[in-house]
Amino acid sequence: MSPSSLKAVFLGTGTSQGVPVIGCDCPVCRSADPRDYRLRTSLLVEWAGTKIAIDAGPDFRQQMLREGVHELHAVLLTHEHNDHIIGLDDVRPFNFRQQKNMPIYGLPRVLDDVRARFAYVFEANPYPGAPRMKLFPIQALVPFSVNELPILPFSIWHGGMDILGFRFGPFTYITDMKTISGESMKAIKGTEILVVNALHHTPHYSHLNLEEAIQFVEEVRPREAYFTHISHHMGRYSDIARQLPSGMFLAYDGLHLEIPISSNLFTFAK
Ligand SMILES: [Zn+2]
Ligand SMILES: [Zn+2]
Ligand SMILES: [Zn+2]
Repeated sequence: MSPSSLKAVFLGTGTSQGVPVIGCDCPVCRSADPRDYRLRTSLLVEWAGTKIAIDAGPDFRQQMLREGVHELHAVLLTHEHNDHIIGLDDVRPFNFRQQKNMPIYGLPRVLDDVRARFAYVFEANPYPGAPRMKLFPIQALVPFSVNELPILPFSIWHGGMDILGFRFGPFTYITDMKTISGESMKAIKGTEILVVNALHHTPHYSHLNLEEAIQFVEEVRPREAYFTHISHHMGRYSDIARQLPSGMFLAYDGLHLEIPISSNLFTFAK
C-alpha cells in the first residue's frame, strides 16, 4: 500500500438497527442482493500501513473479521450513540496481538460516556482480560495525527447534538449529520471524495434524508460522494443507485475506495 493513496473501506453502511431489521419482511430486508445487507455504520481508513476505524458499533467484531484486519492503530469516535461505540469491548484481540492499549479519540463528552459505559475498563485493578483503551480528547478544528496521518475533526449537528466529522486530506467522512455550520463548510472545502449520511426519503429530525444529502453534496462539490447510514426505508440498492445524480453513489458494506493523495494530505483548507 503506497503512501500516495489513502484507502477507505466501508465496514458498515446501515442505520442503527442495521438492515435487514429484525422481524421485517419488506423487500429490502428480504433482498438477496448483498448490497442490501448493511451492518451498523463504520469505516476503516488505511494509509501507509496505519489502520484507523471510525466508530465501533455492535458489528465491530464481524467487520474486523470480514475485512481481515490483523492490526488496528486507533478508533475515532464521531459521537456516543450506541450504534457507534458499543463494540469497543472487541478491541481486546488487538490489545493482545499488539500488546498495547487501543488509542480512542473523541470529544471529551464522548470519552466520558465511554468511561461510564465501559466502567470495568477504567477500574483501578481491571479484570485481566478486560479491554485496554487509552483515551485522547480531541476538539473541532484542532488537527491531530495518528502515526503521522494528519486528521482534521470538524463539528456537525446531529439534531441537537454537536458531533464530529473527520477530514483526511482529500477525503471527508461525515455520518449522522443533520446540519453543518459555515465554519465547518470552510474546513471541508476542497474535499475530493465525500462520505455523508442519507437515511431514507422522509424528513428526520437528526439525519439528512436522501434529498437533503444530495443538496449537501451539490454544495460541497466533491468529485465523488458516497451515501451511508442507510435505513431499509431507502429502498433496494439496485432501484435507488441508478436514480442518483452523476458522481453520487450509495455505499454498501465491503466497498473499498482508493483515494490518490498528492501534497494536499497535509493541507486541510484551500
Ligand atoms: Zn448512528
Ligand atoms: Zn425492512
Ligand atoms: Zn447517532
